[in-house]
Amino acid sequence: MRTRRDFIERVAAYGGSATAAMLALDLLAPASASPPLDLEGSGNGTRVVILGAGVAGLCAAYELGKAGYLCTVLEARSRAGGRVWTVRTGDRHVESDGTSQIAAFADGTYLNPGPARVPQHHVTMDYYREFGIAVEQFGNVNLNAYYHSTAAPPEMQRIRVREAEYAMNGYTSELLAKAVSQSALDTPLTRDDKAKLLDYLSATGGLNKRYEYVNRGAAGYRELPAAGDQAGVPADPYDLMSLVRGGFFAPEREIDQQPTMFQPVGGIDALPRAFATRLRGRIHYNAAVTAIRKTPDGVRIAYTNAQGSPMAIEAAYCICTIPLPVLRKIPADFSPAFAASMNRVTYMDSAKIGLAFKRRFWEEDDRIMSGISRTDQTITQIWYPSYGYFGRGGVLTGAYATGKNARTIGDLAPRDREALALREGSVIHPQYADEFMSSFSVAWQKTPHNMGAWVAWTDDTRKSDYPVLSQPDGRIYLAGEHMSYINAWQAGALESARDVVRRLHARVRAA
Ligand SMILES: Cc1cc2nc3c(=O)[nH]c(=O)nc-3n(C[C@H](O)[C@H](O)[C@H](O)COP(=O)(O)OP(=O)(O)OC[C@H]3O[C@@H](n4cnc5c(N)ncnc54)[C@H](O)[C@@H]3O)c2cc1C
Repeated sequence: MRTRRDFIERVAAYGGSATAAMLALDLLAPASASPPLDLEGSGNGTRVVILGAGVAGLCAAYELGKAGYLCTVLEARSRAGGRVWTVRTGDRHVESDGTSQIAAFADGTYLNPGPARVPQHHVTMDYYREFGIAVEQFGNVNLNAYYHSTAAPPEMQRIRVREAEYAMNGYTSELLAKAVSQSALDTPLTRDDKAKLLDYLSATGGLNKRYEYVNRGAAGYRELPAAGDQAGVPADPYDLMSLVRGGFFAPEREIDQQPTMFQPVGGIDALPRAFATRLRGRIHYNAAVTAIRKTPDGVRIAYTNAQGSPMAIEAAYCICTIPLPVLRKIPADFSPAFAASMNRVTYMDSAKIGLAFKRRFWEEDDRIMSGISRTDQTITQIWYPSYGYFGRGGVLTGAYATGKNARTIGDLAPRDREALALREGSVIHPQYADEFMSSFSVAWQKTPHNMGAWVAWTDDTRKSDYPVLSQPDGRIYLAGEHMSYINAWQAGALESARDVVRRLHARVRAA
């Protein structure tokens, strides 16, 4: 920060309080990327049409509404939320090839086929707080869940996450400790530095006096400690190279997946529901946009209503949150450069398969309460529910795959997806065969109104096309998950909406 003026502007951006002054002076690092959206002045009833009622469109309508704009949201589906969707019993899903499924889950259980977990620092949490949405912990990391790998030796194809993590950390600490003690590191270390580093590696890596990794019990037991003479027998560690070849590691400590994560109680759709309640009367459902036209002083949007009749709406501005695989097929007056950029952007494929079971064997037999098991098979992951513990039955996410594995799943009929999830999952949980009730699967690349899971910017398209699409094309602004640097997260959609709201409001005020 260089000048007094910079300082005042930054304090204002953070909300003008003592905390804001500290934030502006960089004395308190902002824990969230999103400064408060205190829009000064009113939009004076300026009409804005918003395309799509996913969280980006809903957030834009809600925030602009608070600032005195007249917003209308056009949504192709019969519900709000877009990808933020909770499937409960009776819900129907039809994919682009016409295959249809109806969920048959026990009451109170559900599948979140899209988003399911929220990191603490995302703006999503701020909206949960604002709307009084109750949250509960989402067990993203459970060291008692499994790693499964067909590349590991037969006796260790299914091991607890804990066993792999402690051993990998122990062995790497051992290697580093030996290098340090033999002065084989490039880094110059004083005697004191060395002693401290060796203490650290011994403590965190579970090393003995000879700097060898030993499991004293932290990684798990062959016989658990109990009472009487049952002191417990620590399990022998798996060897380093088998662990490395098995590929037993996961990215679950990075900032967006760090423990502790959260979920709204009752389903991830609590947020779009809360927005939609506050936007009652402003959202047109079953309203599929069919053309986006520029007019001399605004936009004209053609759409079909629930009866299939052609309709149109005019407004001064448009915020379009329709995902790009869908948007590029809609006739529109975009400039050639804008249209070309839109056409170059690619999306990721992703699929989830929900499996309903009669009994929570993962809790009763395996003692896994929430969390994720990972495998190198097509299903990739099994997610255990972070709610309804000790209940009678429950819904597992029996597959969560991306890329090639998601395409393999998506290309199958729902029945065959179910068979695949049961076959591969049974290797990890043999109880599947006896306890299975029903399945429900979603392949996002075949889901109408999305046709992709999330944007996949490359270094090239981020450089050449993102800046083009970030600028409004006339009076049309793009917003949504794809127009952010937090891709594949609701926060990307919300931050992008807030960014467009800020810029549109500044333009309206300046005009
Ligand atoms: C498998 C998966 C897992 C994810 N996991 C997480 C997670 O754990 N946590 C997290 O925070 N985020 C997660 N995300 C990301 C999150 O779902 C998205 O970033 C966010 O929901 C995108 O919101 P959006 O409003 O930009 O887009 P969308 O939700 O796609 O909204 C776009 C809207 O436009 C509508 N639309 C499309 N075509 C038309 C048309 N012609 N006319 C009118 N309306 C139209 C659609 O129906 C939709 O409602 C996940 C996503 C997926 C797919």
